[in-house]
Amino acid sequence: MINLKRHLKKFLLAIPLWCCGQTLLAQDIEYARSVVKTLASPAYKGRGYFGDGARKASEFIAGEFKKAGVIPLNQGSYFQNFNLSVNTFPGKVEVSLAGNKLVTAKDYLVDASSPACSGSFRVYPILRADLENASRLLEVLNEVGDQFLLVDNRSVSEETAEQTSAISQHLEALKSDPSLKLKGLIIYSRNKLTWTTLTEQGPRMVLQVNKADLNPAKLTRIDIDVEAMLIPEYQTRNVAGMIKGSSGLDSTVVITAHFDHLGMLGKDVYFPGANDNASGVSMMLSFVKQFSKKQPKYNTVFLGFSGEEIGILGSKAFVEDPLIDLKKIKFLVNFDLAGTGEEGIKVVNATIHKDKFQQLVALNTANKLLKKVERRGEACNSDHCWFHEQGVPSFFIYTQGGISAYHDIYDRAETLPLTAFVPFFNLMNRFFEQL
Ligand SMILES: [Zn+2]
Repeated sequence: MINLKRHLKKFLLAIPLWCCGQTLLAQDIEYARSVVKTLASPAYKGRGYFGDGARKASEFIAGEFKKAGVIPLNQGSYFQNFNLSVNTFPGKVEVSLAGNKLVTAKDYLVDASSPACSGSFRVYPILRADLENASRLLEVLNEVGDQFLLVDNRSVSEETAEQTSAISQHLEALKSDPSLKLKGLIIYSRNKLTWTTLTEQGPRMVLQVNKADLNPAKLTRIDIDVEAMLIPEYQTRNVAGMIKGSSGLDSTVVITAHFDHLGMLGKDVYFPGANDNASGVSMMLSFVKQFSKKQPKYNTVFLGFSGEEIGILGSKAFVEDPLIDLKKIKFLVNFDLAGTGEEGIKVVNATIHKDKFQQLVALNTANKLLKKVERRGEACNSDHCWFHEQGVPSFFIYTQGGISAYHDIYDRAETLPLTAFVPFFNLMNRFFEQL
């Protein structure tokens, strides 16, 4: 691995001093890194809801706003409260299969929809192919009764599209059909374990297992103790502030990033979310720092959102009850995944705002910043979505390449390269200047 810090210093020394007003300085990449390190640390508990990790992150961001002299947007407060429903795993999370104790989040995941479940159960292993025929599956389910079914989901080759579709449909029913007696479902595969977070509980325990040295056909018993708690009205909050522009114009530039992540799975396992999205918050806060020193042309609003991972709920709450006039937004940029950049960036809504995208490409080429600036169409996959639906001109930009950790315990600050953070910042800084 290259020593990023050294590379940056070398790079910055080569630039004449007069140009550096626009450039992120060496100490500021240290700031960016420290933000990621803080938010992805165990004290922030994966920035979820049980244990108030997301709340702690909102406090941290408000603290940074305050230090930089950012104006609170909600009647003297930086916070905008809203409620969400969330399924949490606040206590024991223990699973053994045929006497093999599994390591949480390394060998298996409890599906985010799962209710609590404890006891010893029989497990009936079947193959993925056995799911194709509905009447045969019902026979199997009759035999399984209120015990566990294990689906060996590895063999996916040589399936027709019709077979795949039938199998997926039946697998979905096994997970979520409340009329089945089935107590639990184990899906054994060699796929990467990717977690999520959900607003509801399903009817049964669902486990995703990926452990190489097990023979799924022999896993005929499960010992399980998983506590789960649905919190129907959890109060969380967005963070909102503004730095006044020099032009006196009524238009607003908006920079957004979600600070929530997946939280905890049991008392000991947390999902750090360094790239997703401590890195985007770090980018937003780097602009807070920049614009507090060098006043931007337009009023610039900074929005840190909660509830993104659970269904883009924080930005939805903001758009439903906006603290600013959405019609006066000149442009909005949402940062979500800003921690790599080996392959440059991808720009959602590039095909909608073609001139702005061309501007970005031209700035990148002229200043030799990022390897690639790639276009993507509309995608309702992060906080820009609700704004875009309201006609607010917006981009969602994410870095590409580098590490593949995503929604797992490996998305850590220690291994997040921030490879293109400086050129990405400088590109966006020039873009904001040209708006
Ligand atoms: Zn994200």
